[in-house]
Amino acid sequence: GGTLGILGGGQLARMLSMAAARLGIRCVILAPEAEPCAGDVAHRVIRADYADPEAHRELAAACAAVTYEFENVPVDAARALQALVPVRPGPKALEIAQDRVPEKDFLNGIGLSTAPYRAVDSEAELAAAFADLGGPAILKTRRLGYDGKGQARLNGPADVPAAWAAVAGAPSVLEGFVPFRREVSVIAARSLTGEVVAFDPAENVHAEGILRTSIVPSGLTAMRRTDAVLAAGKILQALDYVGVIGVEFFETAQGLVVNEIAPRVHNTGHWTLDACLVDQFEQHVRAVCGWPLGDGARHSDAVMSNLIGDDASDWRALAADPGGRLHLYGKGEARPGRKMGHVTRLTPRS
Ligand code: ATP
Ligand code: MG
Ligand code: MG
Repeated sequence: GGTLGILGGGQLARMLSMAAARLGIRCVILAPEAEPCAGDVAHRVIRADYADPEAHRELAAACAAVTYEFENVPVDAARALQALVPVRPGPKALEIAQDRVPEKDFLNGIGLSTAPYRAVDSEAELAAAFADLGGPAILKTRRLGYDGKGQARLNGPADVPAAWAAVAGAPSVLEGFVPFRREVSVIAARSLTGEVVAFDPAENVHAEGILRTSIVPSGLTAMRRTDAVLAAGKILQALDYVGVIGVEFFETAQGLVVNEIAPRVHNTGHWTLDACLVDQFEQHVRAVCGWPLGDGARHSDAVMSNLIGDDASDWRALAADPGGRLHLYGKGEARPGRKMGHVTRLTPRS
């Protein structure tokens, strides 16, 4: 039994609510939008701003713990809520993951590699940082970027003015381009009592900054698979984290480089819904509710494909395909770049 609060009402909150319901746990969603995607499967929706003190009191009165499904919940709101009810993962993880500069400082501080980077607050600083790092490089806004939005590539110094215009003068970070072999991610969880479990690393393919496909098993060697899982465990321990985290890596000839962390369930973990006994959503619910973690062992190989924009418009054809398990998020309008659902294809475990 029990009730869990979730800040955010998108598809991740929807899938968390479905996993919770299966365990007899009700979810109360706090979200500002009129018709949150999670609303039709959650027990209740409180429609309010994330920082609304009245909504915090209502949520705290109803719930044993509160979690979040996206990393841009205002940290002050998470702290205010934390005074009333346990917020898991804690606001510290949120604060670090919201800003790419403290995020990379933290990762380097615990001995993990990142791309070389420089914080930039003006076009002159960008020019100096580019001269320092050399090209190619990627300029990213420090905050609020997702699906590759708020990013610009620089191949030479002549690209500085256009890149600075692309981030519209927002505080940004210039990153050296990492010549990666592949991109992988680890979805891992840490319980209230400090146990850590991880799902098998997935290999991820992006197009125009958006995740298209996750493939498990990845092409990593056994050694690099272990490196990736150990890195995720180190991050969880350093943050005294409770819940599921997504850690994105680049694999280079020299080893693994962390791209970014997401303090929540993650799109590259959707394959676990169909290929694992306990999936990432259930694992997160277990962790933040103080339950024992489950066994996330993979029983099948999996290829997860996102349905983006118009990809799901012919949903009848997708539903008729016997080889794929179809997940649709019940979102109305198919705007370009909008994640509408995903399909997972399984094959026997290799
Ligand atoms: P997400 O939706 O995963 O939060 P995001 O907007 O935060 O995306 P990133 O993950 O930083 O964006 O970048 C998106 C993609 O762009 C990466 O998965 C990778 O393919 C490419 N990319 C980003 N940074 C670099 C880099 N420094 N070197 C090489 N490729 C990069
Ligand atoms: Mg990101
Ligand atoms: Mg990313």
